[in-house]
Amino acid sequence: MRRQDDVLSDPCTGKNDTAVISDFCSAYSLNAKSEMKIKKKLRQAIDLLCSRGPASFDDYTRLVLHCAQANDFIQAKRLQSHMELNLFQPNDSFIHNQLLHLYAKCGKLLYAQNLFDNMTKRDVYSWNALLSAYAKLGMVEDLHVVFDQMPYRDSVSYNTLIACFASNRHSGEALKVLVRMQEDGFQPTQYSYVNTLQACSQLLDLRHGKQIHGRIVVADFGKNTFVWNAVTDMYAKCGDIDRARWLFDRMINKNVVSWNLMISGYVRVGNPDECIHLFNEMQLSGLKPDIVTVSNILNAYFQCGCIDDARNMFSKLLKKDEICWTTMIVGYAQNGKEEDALMLFSDMLRGNVRPDCYTISSVVSSCAKLASLFHSQVVHGKVIVMGFDNNMPVSSALVDMYCKCGVTLDAWVIFEAMPIRNVITWNAMVLGYAQNGQVLEALALYEKMQLENFKPDNITFVGVLSACINAEMVNEGQKYFDSISEQGMIPTLDHYACMVTLLGRSGNVDKAVDLIKGMPHEADYLIWSTLLSVCAKCDLKTAELAASHLFELDPHNAGPYIMLSNLYAACGRWKDVAVVRSLMKEKNAKKFAAYSWVEVENEVHRFVSEDHFHPEVDRIYGELNRLIPILQQLGYNPDTSAVLHNVGDDEKFRSISYHSEKLALAFALIRKPDRVAPIRIIKNIRVCDDCHVFMKFASITIARPIIMRDSNRFHHFFGGNCSCKDHW
Ligand SMILES: [Zn+2]
Ligand SMILES: [Zn+2]
Repeated sequence: MRRQDDVLSDPCTGKNDTAVISDFCSAYSLNAKSEMKIKKKLRQAIDLLCSRGPASFDDYTRLVLHCAQANDFIQAKRLQSHMELNLFQPNDSFIHNQLLHLYAKCGKLLYAQNLFDNMTKRDVYSWNALLSAYAKLGMVEDLHVVFDQMPYRDSVSYNTLIACFASNRHSGEALKVLVRMQEDGFQPTQYSYVNTLQACSQLLDLRHGKQIHGRIVVADFGKNTFVWNAVTDMYAKCGDIDRARWLFDRMINKNVVSWNLMISGYVRVGNPDECIHLFNEMQLSGLKPDIVTVSNILNAYFQCGCIDDARNMFSKLLKKDEICWTTMIVGYAQNGKEEDALMLFSDMLRGNVRPDCYTISSVVSSCAKLASLFHSQVVHGKVIVMGFDNNMPVSSALVDMYCKCGVTLDAWVIFEAMPIRNVITWNAMVLGYAQNGQVLEALALYEKMQLENFKPDNITFVGVLSACINAEMVNEGQKYFDSISEQGMIPTLDHYACMVTLLGRSGNVDKAVDLIKGMPHEADYLIWSTLLSVCAKCDLKTAELAASHLFELDPHNAGPYIMLSNLYAACGRWKDVAVVRSLMKEKNAKKFAAYSWVEVENEVHRFVSEDHFHPEVDRIYGELNRLIPILQQLGYNPDTSAVLHNVGDDEKFRSISYHSEKLALAFALIRKPDRVAPIRIIKNIRVCDDCHVFMKFASITIARPIIMRDSNRFHHFFGGNCSCKDHW
């Protein structure tokens, strides 16, 4: 009710209406502080106007200008009604053009078209306003029709058409208009060129881009930094980075944008050294880098693995925006620094910087990589608080995260609650079940996926085939494999590797070899190493074939040498064992560094085999030495057959007993001796036979589940059994 009082109080000053409106207008421009206030004042003025008869030309003009300034469509509409009601016809088109422009800006095409149709006097501004109404809504074709009807045009008309074509990905059409503009006798402006070039950049349309470049040279726009930046950017984005650099080096007045676009061009092609070089040059030239530069350079540092440099630069930033934070978090995560990524994420939240869904997805996948249930739950909580739980990519990442932590139930709860899912969501769940040994659930979900009309993709089939491997379902696996082609897809090397495993493990190594021979792809490292891993004593010929390929593809990986020599040893062919071992030495082949992680009291601890770095090594070894005899009484017999060294039994025993996963288990036991919650261990390579047996026995003694994720799959150890049924 206040509002009415305010309005009514105005006439009480005794002034006439026109004076009041004029007063309002001058007061308005003086006191125009906040947008809310402006809108309120404007509404009051129009209220007042509506309670009176016709106003003067001057008052209408002032009010329409204020409507435009406040971008207030509703008051503008009321103003127009008032004019129509009072049969006000202005002498020129100024007032109507202002209204037209406002309607166009607000996307009110119908109002604009209506007003335009009823105008008695139109000029080029009226036409341009109508054009921009169509452009605003991206109605390229209708815009073109209006353009052709125009009795007169100016360069703005052409630019509107060009911009509309450009922003709707019609670079060829935009170029045509540019040409027509010149033919019609209009000089293209800088906006004509820049808009057309941006369309080419978006579409990676180098051909048209070059033609525009030619016109720019002829039109002598070479000294215009705005235009020249767009040319350089077009070459960089279309992949001709050298040409972009050539132009960049010849630019006379480089601004920050010029440097930024050149640097981001190098980030895109993966040349971080050149980015950093340019960055140094930019500073020498006296220009101050802005937040875009910084974000690009951070990216470059991460690309070349210079994490410390990135950290340094980031810590010195006075103002950090969400792009910088996200760059850092994603960079850490991509460089295997998941824990740092998580720490940075909490710093970001403490600094009141709101993450976007890209940041969140990266954080969630860091939790997945760490398989840290504690961190996963914390991040999930934040996702809910910040309202990202309805975001499909984030939810899919959460499903994947919980599966990778070995808690498929939590993943399923999220999956079930999702209102919309895509194939990525389905894949996360199918693969999650498969890797956790829940074969039936994985296959049932695959069937459900098809019932709900989601077309499976390559990754779905990897999940389905892994499920079949876990359950040794050879026939079903073959059926699913065949269905890949039936659904019009070509099986990938990953699918073939699954089939090699499935066939090899069921004793059909010959069939696996035939399958490889008939592949449409060249066999890669994965295929041959999969074949080697399924070879038993009797498949020595095949093992030799696979190993010979592997030695050629990567002579420095010790894995295949060890596998082949183990097979020779099992057959008692000691001479061959010696040959392979000396070959391995000669090639200086290295074992892939094996690590295990365990999460204790919300902290992730990492161990290597025979670790001597952890601060609590003594207690860990003590615990392990206490545990081993207990397990031996239960029937555990350390399997030293995989130990190659020509050494005594004691030494063999030691080298197998202190594998990283055993140390991780011992550490978890001394830190959390009386718990019942599962112990979670992550290993970066495949768990060895001995450790697998060890964990099974340990799960009896400690009466707690042990969940281990190795590079292949999950092992849920409980009561002396493993969910993988000894296949992994
Ligand atoms: Zn082991
Ligand atoms: Zn297992």
